[in-house]
Amino acid sequence: MADVATQIRSAVPLRVVSLAAIAANTRLLAGRTHSRLMAVVKADGYGHSAVNVARTALANGATSLGVTSIEEALQLRAAGVSGRTPILSWLNPVDADWARAVTHGIDIGVPSLEHLDAFTQAARRLRTRGHALVPQVHLQLDTGMSRDGCPPGEWADLCRRAHAAEQSRLLTVSGVMGHLGCSSAPSDAANEQARVGFRRGVEVARAAGLRPRLRHLAATAAALTDPVSHYELCRVGAGLVGIDPSESTVLRGAMTLSAPLVQVREVPAGSLVGYGRGHVTPQPTRLGLLPLGYADGIPRSASGHAEVSVLGTRCPILGAVSMDQTVVRLDAANARPGDVVTVFGPGDDGEPTVAEWAAWAGTIPHEILTRLGRRTRRVVLPEEFEVHRDDDR
Ligand SMILES: *Cc1c(COP(=O)(O)O)cnc(C)c1O
Repeated sequence: MADVATQIRSAVPLRVVSLAAIAANTRLLAGRTHSRLMAVVKADGYGHSAVNVARTALANGATSLGVTSIEEALQLRAAGVSGRTPILSWLNPVDADWARAVTHGIDIGVPSLEHLDAFTQAARRLRTRGHALVPQVHLQLDTGMSRDGCPPGEWADLCRRAHAAEQSRLLTVSGVMGHLGCSSAPSDAANEQARVGFRRGVEVARAAGLRPRLRHLAATAAALTDPVSHYELCRVGAGLVGIDPSESTVLRGAMTLSAPLVQVREVPAGSLVGYGRGHVTPQPTRLGLLPLGYADGIPRSASGHAEVSVLGTRCPILGAVSMDQTVVRLDAANARPGDVVTVFGPGDDGEPTVAEWAAWAGTIPHEILTRLGRRTRRVVLPEEFEVHRDDDR
């Protein structure tokens, strides 16, 4: 596939999403496991459009969807994701609108006794009102991150109480989930501890009378490197959009960020570039101005390190990234105002990748992708490359 941004001559900054890349990544991930794939599309599909990533992943091997908030799950249903596709939402406050979630067929991650109590109360009220289907929940065990999930000390209680609620037909525990905090480093001892903790947690759940159909522990990195952790389901998000946290596998970047040069100028030696004295030109220099800054998600911390691609030539950014604009040194001598600059892309034509930008900014690719501002227009390229404008502005 040619650099997708170059297919679109645009007078405005664009985020071009390649669904073909997402399809290819999904197929690759599906081929690495015997378990099912849940496509995790939280944070608007890691900035790529949740509903488009969801549809593409479901058409290429994923069988369910995962998000954090109920609101995100409801948005997928509202966008037309069929009630037959399971959607799991696993991060909600105790007083979330459980009833609304259940009536829209959203499965719920339950991380604590408080959540379980609130959920069963909502389920009881729903049943009184005539709701016939038994809601499905996944109990969440903290497997070593001290983050979401039930602390191991409360797990047995949570399982017992969930089983009691099951006996009362208020819910079905269809899953037990954990999460690996160190899976990007497969040899880290924390992974084995988490696997052991998860296995024990499943045993405790079974001893309490639960029969979860879906045990799930692995996200992208473990889906690619740790088959022991796959159980019945892998929850993959980063991998769909081309990020492999384990750096073991070549995946395809699905986002290309581009913008036109709005000005081109020559400055003499000794010129300040941007705010402050961050850069003083050592010699006469040709500069190009990009209408993109940290308000658009260009990390200011990448000032002085990052590069962009201008007409196929890597050019460094100079001075501090401003709120709305960034200056680049035009090493491509023939660049003119209006020429489209690729900030990052899949790397096919030598342009920087998201992983490079993450390194320049001292962060991870996930953060670069999810913080891109709404001021950049997003264009979703369907798998067959037909361009249509995504109306998310
Ligand atoms: C975000 C998230 C995932 C997906 O992780 P990736 O590394 O992006 O594949 C899976 N499980 C949980 C609990 C998450 O929060």
